[in-house]
Amino acid sequence: LREKIRDLEQSFSQKYPPVKFLSEKDRKRILITGGAGFVGSHLTDKLMMDGHEVTVVDNFFTGRKRNVEHWIGHENFELINHDVVEPLYIEVDQIYHLASPASPPNYMYNPIKTLKTNTIGTLNMLGLAKRVGARLLLASTSEVYGDPEVHPQNEEYWGHVNPIGPRACYDEGKRVAETMCYAYMKQEGVEVRVARIFNTFGSRMHMNDGRVVSNFILQALQGEPLTVYGSGAQTRAFQYGNPEEHTILEFARLIKSLVVSRSQIQFLPEAQDDPQRRRPDIRKAKMLLGWEPVVPLEEGLNKTIQYFSRELEHQANNQYI
Ligand code: NAD
Ligand code: UDP
Ligand code: UDP
Repeated sequence: LREKIRDLEQSFSQKYPPVKFLSEKDRKRILITGGAGFVGSHLTDKLMMDGHEVTVVDNFFTGRKRNVEHWIGHENFELINHDVVEPLYIEVDQIYHLASPASPPNYMYNPIKTLKTNTIGTLNMLGLAKRVGARLLLASTSEVYGDPEVHPQNEEYWGHVNPIGPRACYDEGKRVAETMCYAYMKQEGVEVRVARIFNTFGSRMHMNDGRVVSNFILQALQGEPLTVYGSGAQTRAFQYGNPEEHTILEFARLIKSLVVSRSQIQFLPEAQDDPQRRRPDIRKAKMLLGWEPVVPLEEGLNKTIQYFSRELEHQANNQYI
């Protein structure tokens, strides 16, 4: 029996990715809202592997248990099914607040819910941060710049957002969330950080979330037409490979060639209020944080293409079980 228990213990410890040992004083209790989503699950991996205790709070609107399933049962990990629009009383040292739908079709699906998540949800997390004295990082977005009149966009630019257009629930929701962070900082002394994330892609992106990277890769892999909205002259800078700027048409051609796909390129009507040019000015981040992207765009795309191919295979296999 003792041998059996040892075997069981061994298989248990091998079940998880390797985790660093941190002393009590260095180990933080970290809350990640939206931690079962694309960005949040990668952050979960990083903080778990660094040896911290991680609590993921997610309502699984766009996130999936599968993204964090490799940690389930680990003593440093907890997964809570909870909507941040409802108050949350737990004890933590740091909060990474990512909970929010992120792709245009997802956030436009229920604009009122998107507004509630970004306003009431952020208020709740700031109230929590205030009560327990935790530092909070808000995952904001390049969408706070709207259809920008300044190019490339730096931290000082205030943006150009249509407050009543179809994207407003997200853009304005995030703008209020940022305002709340700074109000809690000034009035209540809560330590806050705001990261304005620009178009990011990679493994664990939802295949059907309607963003341009997932749409084009899926369409190319399935031999369907790549759907370009408008002329395709609008630009984005994609992270993995930021801040290289590409037109959407160039991007469609690039994905087509990387997949070696025979798909056609199809032009569809322009999306309303679609930002025409977008690229981050990352000089400040480089100077103050020493941060710059290290993975070239094509390499990031190839990895994502491989991930999507495996996901398609997984789906096909599960269909017939
Ligand atoms: P995602 O959709 O994969 O993840 C969002 C997560 O939040 C999901 O797991 C979802 O279930 C969860 N969520 C949504 N509403 C919730 C609620 N009310 N309560 C609890 N959980 C909720 O998207 P992502 O790309 O990983 O985005 C993560 C964060 O980064 C978002 O705040 C998004 O606005 C921001 N961001 C992402 C990008 C990008 O390109 N990926 C760009 C700018 C900003
Ligand atoms: N809140 C929470 N968890 C906490 C503390 C507060 O969810 O641990 C919520 C609380 O429900 C409130 C919001 O955060 O609606 C803002 O809290 P704050 O203390 O700033 O405001 P007040 O409760 O005084 O209105
Ligand atoms: N886009 C496109 N075809 C698609 C999906 C998106 O041409 O199938 C365009 C979209 O109009 C926008 C750009 O690609 O100009 C980026 O769109 P995405 O939804 O990925 O992100 P966001 O608009 O939030 O930057």
